[in-house]
Amino acid sequence: MPVSDAWRERLASARDDRLRQRRWRKRRVKPSATLDFAGNDYLGLAQEPRVQNAQAEGARRFGAGAGASHLVSGHLGTHEALEAALAEWTGRERALLFSTGYMANLGVLQSLADAHTAIFQDRLNHASLLDGATLSGARSRRYHHRDGEDLQRLLARSTATHKLVVSDGVFSMDGDVADIATLARVSREHSAWLMIDDAHGFGVLGENGRGCVEGVTREDVPILVGTLGKALGTAGAFVAGDAALIEHITQFARSYVYTTAQPPSIAAATLEALSIVRQEPQRRRQLFEHIATFRREAPLLGLPLAHSATPIQPLMLGSEARVMTWADTLAQRGISVGAIRPPTVPEGEARLRITLSARHTQADLHRLLEGLNACQREEAACHA
Ligand SMILES: *Cc1c(COP(=O)(O)O)cnc(C)c1O
Repeated sequence: MPVSDAWRERLASARDDRLRQRRWRKRRVKPSATLDFAGNDYLGLAQEPRVQNAQAEGARRFGAGAGASHLVSGHLGTHEALEAALAEWTGRERALLFSTGYMANLGVLQSLADAHTAIFQDRLNHASLLDGATLSGARSRRYHHRDGEDLQRLLARSTATHKLVVSDGVFSMDGDVADIATLARVSREHSAWLMIDDAHGFGVLGENGRGCVEGVTREDVPILVGTLGKALGTAGAFVAGDAALIEHITQFARSYVYTTAQPPSIAAATLEALSIVRQEPQRRRQLFEHIATFRREAPLLGLPLAHSATPIQPLMLGSEARVMTWADTLAQRGISVGAIRPPTVPEGEARLRITLSARHTQADLHRLLEGLNACQREEAACHA
């Protein structure tokens, strides 16, 4: 059999498996008129003219691209300024920029852990954390979701020299929040370092928007990752911590060293977004009013809410077919929600992932609730 036929068969067989499982995913170009309840632009900053202008101005001033990696000649003034602002804002000695959150997690774990390290992860951690652990060659264990006792048991059994506990801050498909105080206590008791990836909490949670670690000491969470493509509305990520940690990651994280620096215009836009996060708490207030409205109204319609106090409000529908039907019904009404199916979530736990934003209006929320009610009515009519 010619080489190309063998390859074509391999691709076809992978595709057929996915199709049979009804897990083949289609990209759709987003119609501009869609009412979006699927994205992570929680504060509406991606659409904020001041942020957009800062990006345009940044491109004019520094160039459309960085032109090189950070360690060669791509580290520009705007990157440096953003790192300083992020370090100050998170109360850490230093912060280091990565081009994406996925790359930050790969780089942090690969540079810190090796075969003598044991990594302990919440079972629902983001894929990038699982991949980073694999890449590092460390031994990985997964504890039950938000279960400090299970973590304690695994840590007590470990004989590894270096132990690293890793958790999402806000769980991206569930919207619930890690119990940071327990993670910090258990980690300390077992001389483990704690790393929190606060992709969905940064800019949103805490009195000042510093995320789920606001008010938690640097000693409790020595390694903090935040991403900039969600509440900050731009792109990229950072890791913050003490100077020795950040210098180590700068030297050894391959996804930092061997890649072109993020376009400086993005850093310029992020600086503006960060200053808006700090100066306009009313955006967070608006967002939390929407969360309260949704959680008050949805149960009145009999919708299955999850335990989430964050902008991520999943509706647990169970079957993949049901999720697809509801998402289609909403799409026909011009409303976009996340249709989340395995393997992103466990078998039998397919869900609509609804996300709220300060950019939404009360009227938008009511359109969403009406749409969800229509999904239920159509389902009831089918079963009648
Ligand atoms: C989105 C997300 C990431 C990845 O960030 P990107 O900047 O989109 O690559 C990492 N961790 C968590 C928990 C996330 O939700």
